[in-house]
Amino acid sequence: MSAYQNLIAGQWAPSATGRTFENRNPADVDDLVGTFPESSADDVAAAVVAARAAQPAWAAMPAPKRGDVLYRAANLLEARADAVAREMTREEGKTLPEAKGEVGRAINILRYYGGEGARLYGRVIPSERDRVFMHTLRTPLGVIGAITPWNFPIAIPAWKSCPALISGNAVVLKPSELAPLCATRLAEILVEAGLPAGVLNVVHGSGEAGSALVAHEQVRAISFTGSEATGSKVADVCGKRRARVQLEMGGKNPTIVLADADLDEAAGIVLNAAFGSTGQRCTATSRAIVERSVADAFSEKLVTKAKAMKVGPGLEAGIDVGPSINAAHADRVVTEVAAAAGAGAQVLAGGTRLTDGALGRGHFVAPTVLGGVTPTMTIAQEEVFGPVAAVLSADDFEHALAIANDVRFGLSATICTRSLSHALQFAQRIEAGLVMVNLPSAGVEYQVAFGGSKASSLGPREQGPEAIDFYTTLKTVYMKY
Ligand code: NAD
Repeated sequence: MSAYQNLIAGQWAPSATGRTFENRNPADVDDLVGTFPESSADDVAAAVVAARAAQPAWAAMPAPKRGDVLYRAANLLEARADAVAREMTREEGKTLPEAKGEVGRAINILRYYGGEGARLYGRVIPSERDRVFMHTLRTPLGVIGAITPWNFPIAIPAWKSCPALISGNAVVLKPSELAPLCATRLAEILVEAGLPAGVLNVVHGSGEAGSALVAHEQVRAISFTGSEATGSKVADVCGKRRARVQLEMGGKNPTIVLADADLDEAAGIVLNAAFGSTGQRCTATSRAIVERSVADAFSEKLVTKAKAMKVGPGLEAGIDVGPSINAAHADRVVTEVAAAAGAGAQVLAGGTRLTDGALGRGHFVAPTVLGGVTPTMTIAQEEVFGPVAAVLSADDFEHALAIANDVRFGLSATICTRSLSHALQFAQRIEAGLVMVNLPSAGVEYQVAFGGSKASSLGPREQGPEAIDFYTTLKTVYMKY
């Protein structure tokens, strides 16, 4: 067991409060991953002071040189990928192959934004006046606050920090208290890669530290990923103090299965999107909306595949589904399934905690398929964030699309079909920021814009080249010569 610390002004140190919290393996609560500082507003304030002091020199460094730091960090993370992936499985629960995939993604993000250092383009715009030269410049905002959830413990800290840093900002990162170790590893690697002291600061803790960061007058922008409830609070505070804000929150992502789809492939797509990472992905499919004529055949295939999934500790070979993040969350998932059954849904697979033998030391829930779900049931409207797929039936494409759009959220959406016309109509009319055709709703790439619509997201997109927009201000320069 190790005692981990905050990173402030290049120094690793405990919280000024002296308080700590524990992080335990959700697959085995006897396994203590580490202790971390439970930080207060004072720790956050110290981190912001350090960030403000370090930012001007970092911004003055040529952007391609800032990129070199990110490239070196990518190489360091690549060399440690297996060790970091194992730590991720221990702290978050996802299977080792899933954790390796996420570390690979963080490496790609570091390299991608390293390259953006040579591409922080402005524009040259023709003036309507004689001998006036007009151009735009991108300038950093100053200090950025990044607040991250537990389900992608290294990718999300990376996809917020990297575009912020390459743009010349300093960052104060507040990782989730439920999976804080991988963010610590990312910071260690960036420091080792030559990031100057104070340019990235990590303050561990819970909502107390998070809300202090959001409220800090000298933090110019907040990039938040997490629940809708917390995101709303973050947006309110940022709105009041006119800080730039970006929110990525929940989803109730649909997969529409039309009668012309390859049903076996469609069941595989839903299985992957609903149960991968234990359903704990914001882009997970939680609703399969199936054309009525094939609904029974589709459900049968999905149920057979779900029952064949192997649930257990993610460090073991051959495991398909790891644990829920904690006991309260696992209990909430089975309670919501029971409520759906009470409202008339049929539990076709799973629906219970798994506690036999060693599974009893973790927070395991069986992959769950619900049939006979209707669009107004709570299970069809609210995010569960667990291994639960609800199957709804629809009369035809139009009906399926109407059901798909009739929720508050709009993050990711899939259609399984062989019809090009339906696929294109879906892309145009579905209310979602991420649209998939014959692909799982989860499983996005790092080099394109990411984000949703409606209650899922607020503000500019993350990832891809568009991420830079959030972390920079555009200056317009007019020069008479
Ligand atoms: P959460 O809202 O509980 O916590 C997110 C972060 O906010 C944590 O670091 C937490 O400590 C911090 N926090 C808590 N209270 C705060 C406050 N008052 N002010 C500021 N910060 C505060 O969310 P979670 O349980 O960690 O994450 C799960 C949620 O995240 C799900 O709803 C999921 O859909 C969503 N998510 C969305 C995306 C996306 O990109 N859309 C990606 C991953 C997860």
